[in-house]
Amino acid sequence: MKSIDLNKPVEIPSWLRIAARPTSIGSGELERQWLEIGEEATEAILKVLPTGKYTLGPYLSAFENEFAKYCDCDYGIGISSGTAALHLALEAMGIGPGDEVITVANTYVATALAITYTGATPVFTDIDPQTYNMRADLVAAKLTPRTRAILPVHLYGQPVDMDPLLELARQHSLGVIEDASHAHGATYKGRKTGSLGDIGCFSLYPSKNMGAYGDGGIITTSNPDIFEKVKMLRYVGQRIKFVHEVIGFQERLDEIQAAALSVKLRYLESWNDRRRKWAALYDELLANTPVVLPYAAPEVRHVYYSYAILVKKEERDDLMNFLADRDVGSFAMYPTPVPLLPCYADLGYKPEDIPLAADYADRVVNLPMFPQLREDEVRTAAQAVIDFYRSK
Ligand SMILES: *Cc1c(COP(=O)(O)O)cnc(C)c1O
Repeated sequence: MKSIDLNKPVEIPSWLRIAARPTSIGSGELERQWLEIGEEATEAILKVLPTGKYTLGPYLSAFENEFAKYCDCDYGIGISSGTAALHLALEAMGIGPGDEVITVANTYVATALAITYTGATPVFTDIDPQTYNMRADLVAAKLTPRTRAILPVHLYGQPVDMDPLLELARQHSLGVIEDASHAHGATYKGRKTGSLGDIGCFSLYPSKNMGAYGDGGIITTSNPDIFEKVKMLRYVGQRIKFVHEVIGFQERLDEIQAAALSVKLRYLESWNDRRRKWAALYDELLANTPVVLPYAAPEVRHVYYSYAILVKKEERDDLMNFLADRDVGSFAMYPTPVPLLPCYADLGYKPEDIPLAADYADRVVNLPMFPQLREDEVRTAAQAVIDFYRSK
């Protein structure tokens, strides 16, 4: 472990100052969700409390089975967070020091951190210019004899073009772990995310398409060997109590969260439908503006964890300020490609190594997107974008 230097100055990026301005359109997502399902969620949680069984009990098993079935997988394993799910998935595949795992530059830092936790090295590829997702030809260019697995991320709810990746993985005997943290319920050629690779990892962080009342995650697989290994790894490396066979972890999902998640799973399809409806409305309203709208491939069911537009780099702050003046919140996700973050400086990446992801990070603007938005709010947000370009 390196020492942490707290005296080193850290700069607040300009977009973040703007994103932090108080606005009402785009906020209040989880409060509105509570108004919709709070009674049912409370009832579910209150059933758990008197049982005295708060970990690895019947509510977790029930949720794991329901979620696995929803994803067309044989097994689900509840984990304490999405980050931990990715970590345990890689550990279960036997990935460790000396190995390389290929992922994309344009993702949340946790995707890469999970690789680093195992002792393996994350190798970052650039992205597809249309979907901003991982692309098989770019992955192929990064293969080395040390490559052990590929970790695609279904960015913003759009599944990666998986068939060419799966073919590449088959040719080179690589594992495929999906980071489906944005894509609960999305499909690729009719197949559910989480069932496309060897292992699917989902974050159940509150603001994801489906989230807990706190931290949570889940792993999906149809491989019984991986299932058994992940179960051991999430609970201190034991199959039989106090017989710790391997160095395991303490990364379980608890009963209270599982009970609430079973309730939320029943709403996921309708919530995703509402996200898709707002995306379609944004698409229609913003069609004649200079912004680049999100592309959805014909073979996918995109579930719009986020609705991201691309603007000129030099106009992003002005647009975000203009939106905030109109009471519309916005942000930039993700503002720095992971390999260019200070924590990965040692890997020596430069923007030229991942030009599309670097350009994207400077240009992305995420507009308000969650199921409980109202139509007038989507219209106000879109109108603010239109007016910004009229005012120029
Ligand atoms: C949220 C997220 C994670 C991490 O999940 P946590 O539950 O916050 O640990 C990993 N990858 C992606 C792409 C995410 O968006």
